[in-house]
Amino acid sequence: PLTHLDFRPRRPLGKGKFGEVYLTTHQPSGRLYALKVLHKRLLYNSKLRERARNERRINGALGPHPFIIRMQYAFATERCLCLVLDLAPCGELFQLVKVAHPWKNGKTKPGKFPEQAARFYVAECLLALEFLHERRVLYRDLKPENVLIQRDGHVCISDFGLSKPGVNHPLRGARSMCGTPEYLAPEILRGSHEHGLAVDFWCLGALFYELLDGYPPWFTKDKKKLLERVARRDLELKLPRGLKPKLSKDGELCLRALLHRDATVRLGSDGDAQAVKDHP
Ligand code: ADP
Ligand code: MG
Ligand code: MG
Repeated sequence: PLTHLDFRPRRPLGKGKFGEVYLTTHQPSGRLYALKVLHKRLLYNSKLRERARNERRINGALGPHPFIIRMQYAFATERCLCLVLDLAPCGELFQLVKVAHPWKNGKTKPGKFPEQAARFYVAECLLALEFLHERRVLYRDLKPENVLIQRDGHVCISDFGLSKPGVNHPLRGARSMCGTPEYLAPEILRGSHEHGLAVDFWCLGALFYELLDGYPPWFTKDKKKLLERVARRDLELKLPRGLKPKLSKDGELCLRALLHRDATVRLGSDGDAQAVKDHP
């Protein structure tokens, strides 16, 4: 059995919203893990504390899946909550986006992420989502920063801080307004209604788009404008700029179907991932 005395932080791996993630060694075995630290003082209201509890509970209760990070152990100190996670040693999918769409003189050079590669990452994330949805977990935080890469190049989704247990309907089960602005599904933005598992398929579409284009769909730096663009019904999906070779017709149709504003007809909204898997 693991105890908290066994773990010593070595170097930072990433910055979290409520703390840091460190590379850590399990002293007795010498094995490497990631130690995610959440500072209690930053969890200043009951909602944030509830999310932290959910993160530990959900991640801890999930059985093994090849594309989902394993939580091995959790403990609390006087000031922190700590999660011991399997190490994903090859960084975030976000870093691959940056390599494929490098910045030059304040602009990105788009279109260097091959569609086949994007399709591979999207498909692996889809299998992870399917596993979560079968266990009634709405993930709600799919984005390139939370898709980690394992040693063998396969993905590992992590960060269950926004996940909600007990959701088993594509449109209902969750209410709170949360997520990353660039990845907020329109039904969450509208706020007045409930949302459900279909939100994760929207995010899958946004991830697909960002891999291809270097930016999330409807991107603009102005957060308010961005949310307006996402929420406006008549907005056309801009296809990835400068993509060479052109995005395939099937790829385009899949993107459009996942990024359908109307959650009731969005690809995957009939309640399972099979429809997305079946897409050409
Ligand atoms: P937050 O909930 O604040 O977004 P995350 O759990 O996403 O925190 O962790 C922040 C960053 O730390 C990640 O984007 C990633 O770069 C790094 N990280 C998190 N977990 C691991 C892990 N298991 N292995 C390697 N790096 C990790
Ligand atoms: Mg994160
Ligand atoms: Mg989080």
